[in-house]
Amino acid sequence: MLKKFSHFQREANLIGGKWVQADSGQTLDVVNPATGVKFGVVPKSGRAETRRAIAAAQEAFPAWAKRSALERSKPLRKLHDAIMDNQEALAELLTLEQGKPLAESRGEVGMSAAYVLWFAEEGRRVYGDIVPSPWADRRILVTKEPVGVIAAITPWNFPSSMLARKLAPALAAGCTAVVKPASQTPYSGLAWGVLAEEAGFPAGVVNIVTGSAAEIGDEICANPLVKKITFTGSTEVGKVLIQKASVTVKKVSMELGGNAPFIVFDDADVDRAVDGAIVAKYRNSGQTCVCTNRFLVQSGVYDKFVEKLVAATASLKVGNGMEDGVKQGPLIDEGAVCKVEELIADATSKGGKVVAGGARHVLGGTFFQPTVIAGAKSDMRFSTEEIFGPVSPVFSFDTEDEAIAMANATEYGLACYFYTGDLGRAFRVMEGLKYGLIGVNEGLITTVEAPFGGLKESGLGKEGGREGILDYLDGKYVCIGGLGL
Ligand code: ADP
Repeated sequence: MLKKFSHFQREANLIGGKWVQADSGQTLDVVNPATGVKFGVVPKSGRAETRRAIAAAQEAFPAWAKRSALERSKPLRKLHDAIMDNQEALAELLTLEQGKPLAESRGEVGMSAAYVLWFAEEGRRVYGDIVPSPWADRRILVTKEPVGVIAAITPWNFPSSMLARKLAPALAAGCTAVVKPASQTPYSGLAWGVLAEEAGFPAGVVNIVTGSAAEIGDEICANPLVKKITFTGSTEVGKVLIQKASVTVKKVSMELGGNAPFIVFDDADVDRAVDGAIVAKYRNSGQTCVCTNRFLVQSGVYDKFVEKLVAATASLKVGNGMEDGVKQGPLIDEGAVCKVEELIADATSKGGKVVAGGARHVLGGTFFQPTVIAGAKSDMRFSTEEIFGPVSPVFSFDTEDEAIAMANATEYGLACYFYTGDLGRAFRVMEGLKYGLIGVNEGLITTVEAPFGGLKESGLGKEGGREGILDYLDGKYVCIGGLGL
């Protein structure tokens, strides 16, 4: 038996207030990507366990929905405090299963707590309307109410905060939830169950199942009790879920892939752009959906930008995320490393020049050198494919119109960034870019107060901000007649 890291490392699923194993008794291994060593197991649940979790959420729903928003906000506030009181333990568990540097894990856990607090407050501001009536003796009301049981499917790159953005608004709105965390990083998801119990949420309000993605996903999509699916992950899987959810016409929120451009104009502060580039590219070893996929740099500053980016990239310390000063952890698995190698080979075969990194790191395993490729061209695969790794392809352009056209030449529309010192240009470019999130002279822009969400094939719906709770609510129009007024 392996020793457990902390009481948050729960090797069981939470269904209807009970911590249980899979019916088959089967488990999945959880491996530390920095060492390749297994450090625990979680249940391999499937359809039957998921059906029971949905039934438990349905049973808990009426009483939870009936509570006033103020009464729902109280355990949410306690949940916020519980997360912050345990920030270090939760961050260490996150780094152990995901690989990111401990400082980034602390930041992510802090962000999770911030979402919970934000929605504890927003839940109390779910206003309806009284609409001026065209009839003298009738009145028109518009009300909002929780949709019911929601299901959340989350990825491995932000195993804590992606769940926060879904669970917090759902619970604040009065919904109950069934959650499926990613199999690579299940403990940060299961930890939400431990925290929810500590915060005093009633049994069945939060249910968590781990295991076969296809089986759990199929039950979630087919089960008529689930009224909404909220998913963060690849566009490929998102499309499958949208299709399957259509059978019972569920609401869907989708946070899908991206192909973020990072544009540097001749009039930009290049040092500031390089600082922004490092965080927008190499955070989480390039494994975020808002990470820069393509640097587009105007010809006048191209050489200068590449030179400074190479120097900054080369100074990033690669290693186990638990060690001090490490800025780049391992990639999540061997498949991710192979994809990065393939994209680099494709680029060099088409004339791209590796000017930093370019290969696996001497540490072995899934560690990869932070990489810069100069002379990137539109026929290279990373023009259209999400890299999800620490590789910076740098393209060149001449005019503003060309930059906007290049930036928009993708089916994705999640995040983009651009650097300029010209205010007029800032507005022209901002208005020309078809993206849901735009950083102007900033490389890291996510915050709980702002609506996060992609356009085009990057997604549907918003998370965070005033908008983040709306997808968990049904609107009703009520016409009251015969008032004899
Ligand atoms: P990533 O590349 O980030 O792993 P995925 O879209 O493959 O993105 O996975 C995101 C989440 O979706 C994970 O929790 C994964 O287990 C789950 N998932 C993958 N395939 C399916 C599926 N067919 N149905 C439901 N969930 C799925």
